[in-house]
Amino acid sequence: TRTPLIAGNWKMFKMGSEAVNTVRKLAELTIGTNNRDIMIAPPFLAIPLVYQELNNLNNAFKKENKTESRISIGAQNLYHENQGAYTGEVSAPMIKDAGATHVIIGHSERRQYFGETDESICKKIGAAFESDLTPVMCIGETESEKNEEKTFYVLDKQIRNGLKGFRSDELSSLVIAYEPVWAIGTGKTATSDQVEDIHKKIRSLLKEMFGVEFSESLRILYGGSVKPDNIADLMSKQNIDGALVGGASLDAETFAKIVNF
Ligand code: 13P
Repeated sequence: TRTPLIAGNWKMFKMGSEAVNTVRKLAELTIGTNNRDIMIAPPFLAIPLVYQELNNLNNAFKKENKTESRISIGAQNLYHENQGAYTGEVSAPMIKDAGATHVIIGHSERRQYFGETDESICKKIGAAFESDLTPVMCIGETESEKNEEKTFYVLDKQIRNGLKGFRSDELSSLVIAYEPVWAIGTGKTATSDQVEDIHKKIRSLLKEMFGVEFSESLRILYGGSVKPDNIADLMSKQNIDGALVGGASLDAETFAKIVNF
């Protein structure tokens, strides 16, 4: 009963016009997709353009008696304060105002290159909820942590510290994305059985922390070299509820194949 979520993280790619063209093609290629949610996360500056384009398309679809696109928009990051003297930062209310409904938080590239920690991620998750944005919280182990067999130790710490102090009712729309760092942009994917095993462990940890109702409704996505030819196998597993796609989300036709797996 968990609706799959197929999300595209465009990272630092696409000018405004490219973002608009890609979302238009994607919307056309996913008309009639009705049993899954779709999210794309463009760079900040393209969010209002993509929002406007989706509005125009939805109005046109309505006139043709087609259903609205299932595409929603996410940001790739936020700063946890709502406003203030924080030069260069973007807040949750600003993201909401620009037309996004989701926000990716704690991506491994942000942890690796921009110093994000479980503590800063926890604040960001709080700010997302306060502005009614759905956070997609990213967790994952590095290659050396995997080799040292510390995978679940690392994930446990990221989850406990990232979600510290919340009640289950505050976290109701939370999405978790498990992205092993060694599988991002490398073409190496974890096997669907490995991912399923880890997702099961994540779900049982969340059951222990927040109860069975919460853990059973929580969507856990997999990310790391997801492609049209491995999505069906991943999605056949009971505890894999969707994907967070990087490289293969940049091209509308490729991403549409993943969405319509
Ligand atoms: P790739 O799909 O390019 O491996 O990237 C995964 C990712 O980091 C999505 O957030």
